[in-house]
Amino acid sequence: MKSNKNMDYICPICLGNSGVESTDTLLKQNDLVFRDDLVSVWINSFWVGKNKGHLIVVPNQHFVTLWDLPTEVGHRIFEVSKLMAVALKEVYKCDGVTLRQNNESAGDQHAFHYHQHIFPRYINDDFNQKLVEKSTLSDPQERIVYVKKLRRYLEESVDIKI
Ligand SMILES: [Zn+2]
Repeated sequence: MKSNKNMDYICPICLGNSGVESTDTLLKQNDLVFRDDLVSVWINSFWVGKNKGHLIVVPNQHFVTLWDLPTEVGHRIFEVSKLMAVALKEVYKCDGVTLRQNNESAGDQHAFHYHQHIFPRYINDDFNQKLVEKSTLSDPQERIVYVKKLRRYLEESVDIKI
C-alpha cells in the first residue's frame, strides 16, 4: 500500500496541479475551478450521495498533512475555503456547507497531499451515511457543468478580490 512515507508515491494532486492527466490522477484539467499563487480548487472526482460537485482546496506545492503546511499557505487555504463555501451557497443553492480535512491513513486520508473538502449540504441529505458507504466516481462531462457555473460566479462576483 502506498503511503506518504513511501518515496515512490505518485501524488495524484501534484500531477493534476502540474497539468498532467494520466491513469495516476483522476483529475481532468477541466476540473480546475480556481487557482492563485498558493492554492488550487478542483471539483473532486469522487462524489458523495446527493452532494454532487464538491470541491477540494489544495496547496500548489506538495504538503501532506495539516501540520506540514506553512502558516501562510494555511491562511490562504482558509480564505479560499470561505470564498468557495459562499460560492457553493450562491451557485448550488445548497442549504449548508461542510468542510472536512483528513490527516494520515488512520484519519481517513487517501490522497497524501493536503486537501480540504468542501461539501454542499442539503436538508435531509443523509450525508454522513453516504460518506461511510461509498463515494462514486463521477463523469468528467458531468463535472464540467459544475466547474463552468462556479467559474462564471467567481469571475462575475464583484465582492471577491484575491
Ligand atoms: Zn502532491
